[in-house]
This record gives sequence, C-alpha cells and structure tokens, in this order.
Amino acid sequence: MGLAAEVVGLGPAGSAFARLYGSVCRRERAGSYTKPCGEAVPSDTPLVGREHVIDKVRSYRFYCWRREIGEVSYARARWYIVNKRAWVESLRDCLEPSCGRADIIVRAGGPYQSAGEKIIVARAYVKGVRLSDETAYFVFLQGAAGFFWAFPRGGLLNVGGGFIGARDPTPHLLYFVRRWLGGGHVLDVRGAPLTVSPRVLLHDGSGFRVGEAAGLVFPLTGEGVRPAVLSAMALARALRSKRPLAAYRKELEGVIRQIEFQKRVLGLVRRAIAGGIHPLSLADDGVLRDYIEENLSARTLLALLSRRPLAGIKIVTALVRR
Ligand SMILES: Cc1cc2nc3c(=O)[nH]c(=O)nc-3n(C[C@H](O)[C@H](O)[C@H](O)COP(=O)(O)OP(=O)(O)OC[C@H]3O[C@@H](n4cnc5c(N)ncnc54)[C@H](O)[C@@H]3O)c2cc1C
Repeated sequence: MGLAAEVVGLGPAGSAFARLYGSVCRRERAGSYTKPCGEAVPSDTPLVGREHVIDKVRSYRFYCWRREIGEVSYARARWYIVNKRAWVESLRDCLEPSCGRADIIVRAGGPYQSAGEKIIVARAYVKGVRLSDETAYFVFLQGAAGFFWAFPRGGLLNVGGGFIGARDPTPHLLYFVRRWLGGGHVLDVRGAPLTVSPRVLLHDGSGFRVGEAAGLVFPLTGEGVRPAVLSAMALARALRSKRPLAAYRKELEGVIRQIEFQKRVLGLVRRAIAGGIHPLSLADDGVLRDYIEENLSARTLLALLSRRPLAGIKIVTALVRR
C-alpha cells in the first residue's frame, strides 16, 4: 500500500490521477464538469475511449484573418474532438467513494490553482455553418497575440478565441462568427481562464501538482488536456518509487522542455507584434506542422529563417523597432 493522497479538483488531471492511483480522498466543486474547451486532443492521448470521440481532424488550415497562410494534412486523424464533459464524467464515475487520512495532497484545480499569466478564452457551439470535413481552422489577427479556432463537432462547430490583453473575448468571438464564418446559430457561449505563460511547478512545498495546476499547458496552442493526462499517469507511477518528485520530473522532462521553449517563443511573438509584425503570418508549412505536433524547436525556426531570410529580416526589424 502506497501513500494515501487527497486530490483537489476533478478535471482530466485529477480524475485520471484518482482513477490510476486509487487510495484517494477527492474534492471537487459541486456539480458536473462544465468548463468550456475546444475539446481537441491528439489521437494518441491516453485514457480517451472511442465512445467519447465525436469528430476527427486530419487537416489544419491557418489564416491571417481572410488570407490563408498554409495548410497541413495527414493521411489519418491526428486529433480527436471529444465530448469532454462526458469523458471527464466517465473518468469520475469509475472512482470508488473513499476518504480517510491522507499522507499527501495533489492539486489538480487547473487554472484556478496555477501560477503564471492567465487570459480568458471564450468558446461557443455554432449550428448551421458548414466548413470542410475533418478540418481545424486557426485564424490569427495581424495585431494581436492569440487566435480564433473553428473545429468540427458532430455536425456543429466548436468555435472559440482568446487574446492576450483582451479581458473579455466574447464580443470578439461573436464578431468572428458573424464576419468570418458568415453567421450561424450560436448555442452556448462560455469563457474560462487559460494559463498562457505558466510557471511549471510540480511540487509547491506542501503538495504535488498535476495538469494545468502544475503549469502543464503549451503556451502557443493552449493544449492542456494531453499534458494533464500524462502528468496524472506520471505522478501515479512516481508515487510508487523511492524518490517520487525526481521520478515525476524525469517523466515529464520532454513536455516541460517544450513548454519552456514555447514560453520564450511567445515572448518573442508578443514583442514582434508590438513592433508591427505577426511572425506566424510569415511561417511556412514546415513550421505549421511542428506547431501542430508540439514539436517546435530552435532548429525549426533557424530552418525557416534559412529558407525565408526576408521573413527573418522583418521579424528582427519588428523586434528592434519596438
Ligand atoms: C475555452 C478553452 C478552450 C480550450 N481548448 C483546449 C483544447 O481544445 N485542447 C486542449 O488540450 N486544451 C484546451 N484547453 C485547455 C484545457 O481545457 C485545460 O488545460 C485542461 O482541461 C486542464 O485539465 P486539468 O484537469 O488540469 O484542469 P481543469 O480542466 O481546469 O479542471 C480543474 C477542476 O478542478 C476544479 N477545481 C478548481 N479549484 C478547485 C478547488 N479549490 N476545490 C475543488 N475543485 C476545484 C474545477 O471545478 C475543475 O473541475 C482549453 C481551455 C479553455 C479555457
């Protein structure tokens, strides 16, 4: 029998951890899981059953408002669109009612417990607009750090957006629906915080952290579900080892490295935008592919600059001009 844990928060991270680790007390705010989300997860995300998949994505189209920047396609589905609420509820359903003395605390309260800069991101379901099947759309704006998205969702669209500096993105999202999508019936609009520039904290001195509470969100895409599940799995395993924190950190090394790299790139993107240029509008398909695969590296960016030296000059000029 290992250490008994108390888990605070039952989103993807907390419920996955509780299910995998067992021997837990659980605390969640009353009610079901209603937090809005784009509901897109890479198709290799562990613990996502086929019964919760409601659409698939194998093509990605990128725009700077109406101007298409590029497209990345795969032979097979790269992402699943899931019914996140039903999926999280199903993870919670498997949990035995339990409580008692806890040896350790595991914070899994998402952005409500994370450290680092947060923005509000809004999401709506839209009925009556048809885009290409199995395609995710990302729409950037020239003067803003953030993006709109439109994902297929079983006959509807899951549409959303968030921008650094926009306290309430809802009016912008409704404008996007009217002007970019050309209308449609908006069914449900909700906003929630997202940690865009997270401080990764796997242990805060009094307890472990998993998921977004640990800062495990990719800053450039806002992807947090797969890192939440991966961290839950890693901590459940690490707690059975002799040096849990070291084992936990080791397993998440790759994810943390990518988050730290994306944080630095986001800093550059913000500075370049302030200097009058949106670097993503200069990206090519190679960069966009690495962006989708959470695989951006200094090598990706250097390769871009060698292929498109003019883009490099424009970015450097924007950084200097600021
Ligand atoms: C609009 C929007 C769209 C997004 N789209 C995507 C996407 O398409 N793909 C993707 O991968 N990520 C997306 N994200 C990010 C993703 O939603 C989160 O990173 C992910 O859900 C993190 O999981 P988590 O379990 O760590 O936290 P959460 O999902 O936030 O769950 C935390 C849980 O803890 C509970 N809680 C909080 N504080 C307490 C407390 N004090 N006591 C008890 N319970 C508490 C909350 O009620 C909640 O149930 C999006 C985020 C937003 C806001």
